[in-house]
Amino acid sequence: MWNTEMEHPKTEQDLVAILSLTDSEEIEKLYKAARTLTEEIVGEKVHFRGIIEFSNICAKDCYYCGIRKSNTNVERYTIPDNAVIEAAKWAWKAGYGSIVMQSGEIESDAFTNKITDLLNAIAKETNGELGITLSLGEQSYETYKAWFDAGAKRYLLRIETTNRELYKTLHPADHSFDVRINALKNLRKAGYQVGTGVMIGLPGQSVEMLARDIIFFKEMDIDMIGMGPYIPHHQTPLADSMPDFEKIKERQFQKGLIMIAATRLFLRDINIAASTALQTLNNIGRELGIMAGANIIMPNITATEYRSSYQLYDNKPCLSDTSSMCHHCMEMRLSAYGVEIGLNEHGDSKHYAKRQ
Ligand code: SAH
Repeated sequence: MWNTEMEHPKTEQDLVAILSLTDSEEIEKLYKAARTLTEEIVGEKVHFRGIIEFSNICAKDCYYCGIRKSNTNVERYTIPDNAVIEAAKWAWKAGYGSIVMQSGEIESDAFTNKITDLLNAIAKETNGELGITLSLGEQSYETYKAWFDAGAKRYLLRIETTNRELYKTLHPADHSFDVRINALKNLRKAGYQVGTGVMIGLPGQSVEMLARDIIFFKEMDIDMIGMGPYIPHHQTPLADSMPDFEKIKERQFQKGLIMIAATRLFLRDINIAASTALQTLNNIGRELGIMAGANIIMPNITATEYRSSYQLYDNKPCLSDTSSMCHHCMEMRLSAYGVEIGLNEHGDSKHYAKRQ
């Protein structure tokens, strides 16, 4: 049962109570409370991060992910450096405070150097004004530090789930939970604003596990959250464990929003992204994510020709759109909710600012 006490969750039990809500009127009250708190603490504006998915080459084999190494149906690509720089310039000119560079996971000296060079080139071409977030998986401390020194100030690395047993069911034996935790610690040590997150509604995931995930975000003193509903990809091993996904789609979407709201109420001053996966499950999913406590949107700035080869899950939206279509579409969608966009601002996490 929803009560105003729930607006101030303090314990794991409080979070479990929120995550277990099923009554639609009560859930609406939860969203409202989370949005009100966001406006009070973080502000009314939403900030854009243009995301460029510059390569789908991946050394990992995560059971849920469409671009896993073993998926031989995927046409592999790497966008040429000059085109990545052009996309960054486009975002800068469009008034985006920052971009996110994301790819599959590659660990090599050549890759480390390539990213360092790209960071230097982008800083030069955008007057050092464009904030850069990286989302390039697990790397060594030295690599994280080199990229930080070259100008990347934020890093996103989802823990995916904080439940070790569940983690094992999602990954091959050589993908280590401890290595990933350690990577998060190294990111903090290197100086980044650190972002993490989980997938919501994984097979075998309970509300208690999700409550623990939120506690973990707090214990790790996380600055930013990117999380979204799990959506099966038909060419992955995990797809078979959710054959009736169409039937549970609506609840899956709702779980995604409830998780955003619960995280907002518990962590209060962090940045939370309304993930693109929300829009896969509901046409106005990202807007509803904002109305449930998120404050960041990541419009896709990947060149259209590559988009269909970066499908982590089925039915990813906006595959045939251009960067400028995604920009104007998001603008229009948000204005329908009276939400303003904070252009030409970095929109750093308030939580990070306080820690400094
Ligand atoms: N290689 C980078 C970027 C990964 S892709 C890294 O390892 O951090 C970004 C995120 O997509 C992943 O962290 C995962 O949470 C999400 N993702 C992958 N497959 C998904 C699926 N089937 N449904 C929902 N989200 C998925």
